[in-house]
Amino acid sequence: MSCTYLITGGAGYIGSHVVVDLLARGHRVVVFDNLQQGHREAVHPDAVLEVGDLADCGALRSLFSRYRFDGILHFAANSLVGQSMQQPFLYVGDNVSNTLNLIRAAIDGNVLRFVLSSTCAIFGLPERVPIGEDVAKNPANPYGESKLIIEQILKWADRVYGLRSACLRYFNAAGAHPDFPIGEDHSPETHLIPIAFEAVLGQRSHVEIYGDDYPTPDGTCIRDYIHVCDLSDAHIRVLDMLEERSCHYNVGIGHGYSVREVLDSVRRVTGHPLPARIGPRRAGDPPVLVAASDRIRDELGWAPRYPGLDTIVEAAWRWRAAHPHGFGPAQVVD
Ligand code: UDP
Repeated sequence: MSCTYLITGGAGYIGSHVVVDLLARGHRVVVFDNLQQGHREAVHPDAVLEVGDLADCGALRSLFSRYRFDGILHFAANSLVGQSMQQPFLYVGDNVSNTLNLIRAAIDGNVLRFVLSSTCAIFGLPERVPIGEDVAKNPANPYGESKLIIEQILKWADRVYGLRSACLRYFNAAGAHPDFPIGEDHSPETHLIPIAFEAVLGQRSHVEIYGDDYPTPDGTCIRDYIHVCDLSDAHIRVLDMLEERSCHYNVGIGHGYSVREVLDSVRRVTGHPLPARIGPRRAGDPPVLVAASDRIRDELGWAPRYPGLDTIVEAAWRWRAAHPHGFGPAQVVD
């Protein structure tokens, strides 16, 4: 059945990939994005782009009066761990209140399905790794805290109003779409793989490794890197089951790679001798975040189609090599 979906943040990295995959399945897609972090060029031309801000309740009322949505996928958010340690209220304030505006609009508009971009940052320093859904949630930064608060709001939105939600806790999304020219491009860039590409492309002199004194085999932080299209696939699958009940899933490939291993992969894939220097730790970074994704595998039959780090880095590099300055004009980072 063809549905109409609202994608907030659909001009951003993960949202724009989900837009492409929903369109490919014959759905109608309306993107709502303030284009502060997103890119107009990242929105597939078959989607409708509505430029607006979730803080603007009038804009939301107008949006919901013009469309009848079968579901909402909510990506729009401030999402940087480091920034959240410097500007916490952008997170526990704006992220939460903007989402509350959207949830209210969803309930008033009788929308019954809501998918949240959540994060493994809700677990903080996890008591067990790999991290299953039931591990204690103790966010170590305001970004994780904001998403945990939103998950709890969604719990009550279901109990009281019957709004079914899926909270997908992302691990580290990377890679790029094989069928449409979009990829990862943030400004300023803070993520490891695109930063490494900037060094490869001569846009910065080196990569700084944020700490090599963590309790891991090589001293650098370990993360679970998942191809953005595998993450997108998880969204498509939860939409089908949301009619029945709300759910929470941790979505990663279940294997962790250290910062050094990621840089080695970038060297292999690009063939470039990537310079790296050790710097201080970044505030709010847990040493190891790796997903136990058994629940989504068992319940939805989800499995990563791109489970290897080099495959993910290759996909990311294919886009970045073709778009050395991402979506934007040329700039030198340092
Ligand atoms: N990292 C790093 N140097 C950088 C950017 C990131 O050492 O220039 C590390 C960071 O501390 C973390 C890992 O790479 O351990 C992944 O960071 P990223 O910002 O890509 O994703 P996050 O884990 O914060 O979601």
